[in-house]
Amino acid sequence: MQLTVISGKGGTGKTTIAVAIAELEKGQVVKTDCDVDAPNMYLYYQGKTREAESFSGGNKAIVDDLICNDCGQCQEVCKFDAIENGKVSYFNCEGCGACTLVCPQEAIRLLPEKTADIIVTENTDGFLIYAQMEIGSEGSGRLITVLRKKAQRYAGDNLIVIDGSPGIGCPVIASLTDTDAALVVTEPTQSGLEDLRRIVGLCKQLRTETFVCVNKADINEEMTKQIEGYCQTENISFVGKVPYDETVFRSINELKPIVYYEESAANKAIEQIWNNVKDSLGLSPSQ
Ligand code: SF4
Ligand code: SF4
Repeated sequence: MQLTVISGKGGTGKTTIAVAIAELEKGQVVKTDCDVDAPNMYLYYQGKTREAESFSGGNKAIVDDLICNDCGQCQEVCKFDAIENGKVSYFNCEGCGACTLVCPQEAIRLLPEKTADIIVTENTDGFLIYAQMEIGSEGSGRLITVLRKKAQRYAGDNLIVIDGSPGIGCPVIASLTDTDAALVVTEPTQSGLEDLRRIVGLCKQLRTETFVCVNKADINEEMTKQIEGYCQTENISFVGKVPYDETVFRSINELKPIVYYEESAANKAIEQIWNNVKDSLGLSPSQ
C-alpha cells in the first residue's frame, strides 16, 4: 500500500505527519522523500547506506573547439540563447539537441548532466529513499518516478509512506500517480483552502482516494470549519485536526519524530488521523 502525504505549499507540517505515520506503523515501512527540492525526512533517520547512485536529469551540449569552424549555425538554431560564439552556456542549455542536428562539423555532443544523488538507507524499522539535488538543479517528475520505483522494490508488501512534493506541478503529479491514497495536509487560512481546492482537483483527475486533515487547526477555528464544510461538499473524507502544539517544534529541533512525545496533543491527533485513514481503507488500526 502506498500513501502520499501532500500539501498545496511547503511548511504545512506534511513531513511531521508523514514521518509520524511511518513510525506509528512500527513495521518495515519504506519512507520515500519525494519533496526533492527540500528533502528533510533523512534528518530523522540515521541509517546505514544501502545504495547511492547518480541521477541524470537531462543533457548538456558540449562543443569540440578543435573541430568547430565558427560557422554560427548552432547559435542560430538554439531557441534558448545558450550558444554565443561557439560557446555553450551550461545554465541556459536545455539539452534539446537541435544544435547537434545542424552542426556541419559534427562538433557538438550531448552529455548527460548529473542533477542528483539517489540514496537508500536502512533503518531499524525499514528503509528511507531520498535524493540530494545538485545546486541549481530543479526537481523533476522523472527523478521522483525513479525514487518511487526503488521504493516499490524495497517495500514488497510493506507500507510505503511518501512525503510528496508541494504544489500541483509535475513533481506532485509524479508523487501522486498510482498511489493508493493521498493525505492532504492543510492549514486553516484562506490560502490554505485555495491550495486545498487545487490539490483536491488534481487528486480527482488522478482518481486518487483523498483524505484531508488540518494542521494547527485551533489557530483559526472558523476557517477549519470552512475546510471541513468544503470537504463535505466535495465528498472527501475529513480525517482530523492537529492542534497547534509547541512540542512539534521540539521534535523538529531534536530531530525526533513526534511519536516519541507520546503524550503530546499533536502526536495523539496524528495517531487518530492515521487510524481514521486506515479505517476508511479497511486496514487494521495501529496499536
Ligand atoms: S554549428 Fe558546429 S561548427 Fe558551426 S559554430 Fe556551431 S559548433 Fe561550430
Ligand atoms: S542542446 Fe539545445 S539548448 Fe543546448 S545549446 Fe544545443 S540547441 Fe541550445
